[in-house]
Amino acid sequence: MEDAVERAAALRDYAEQTAGCTRCALAVGRTQVVFGSGNPDADLVFVGEAPGFHEDQQGVPFVGQAGKLLDKLLGGIGLTRADVMVVNVLKCRPPGNRDPLPEEIAACEPHLFRQIELIEPKLVATLGNFATKLLSGKPAGITRVHGYEQEVTLGSRTVTLYPLYHPAAALYTPSMLKVLEEDFARIPALLATTLETPAADDDPAPVTTPEPAVQLGLF
Ligand code: URA
Repeated sequence: MEDAVERAAALRDYAEQTAGCTRCALAVGRTQVVFGSGNPDADLVFVGEAPGFHEDQQGVPFVGQAGKLLDKLLGGIGLTRADVMVVNVLKCRPPGNRDPLPEEIAACEPHLFRQIELIEPKLVATLGNFATKLLSGKPAGITRVHGYEQEVTLGSRTVTLYPLYHPAAALYTPSMLKVLEEDFARIPALLATTLETPAADDDPAPVTTPEPAVQLGLF
């Protein structure tokens, strides 16, 4: 894409196209499609799980408690929402905020890939298990891979993927919040590196930490 204006227009067009999406059953219960928000020209994209109650109502991702923490973490590295793009794996709210189903992820995946193709970010920070597993294409859970950047090809684009704990999970677990803050603190350096040269990748994730059984209470 040539410039920021063109990119923003293309993304807006795509948002309009997806506003009436009926690719999965979540279309029936949603208030609206939550396409994403932020800077269409961002080098950094955050990918969460799915809209919750407030996101479904307002049409903007991460506006609840988890969103407030995300804002705080961004502030800690000198960024605001206007500097980054925030999207979710699912664009529609699962009933009762349950986990996304495999068929919902499969149905919604083309939207996420198209967003990334249009935004052309350098760094994609996945928040939690669902986004991390989908975009890494690997089953390793977030407890094992958080804080380890890896190079992945998403559609036509090679980006640095940076898995992070989901802010909602960190809200009630101080030890997780500390790790999330530490991982966040590396983002400026990662951005600087990815802007210069592609990051090397040897799948450096350690194999010692057991994966949690489930990541509950994300909303
Ligand atoms: N959790 C997410 O994963 N996404 C949102 O938009 C809100 C909460």
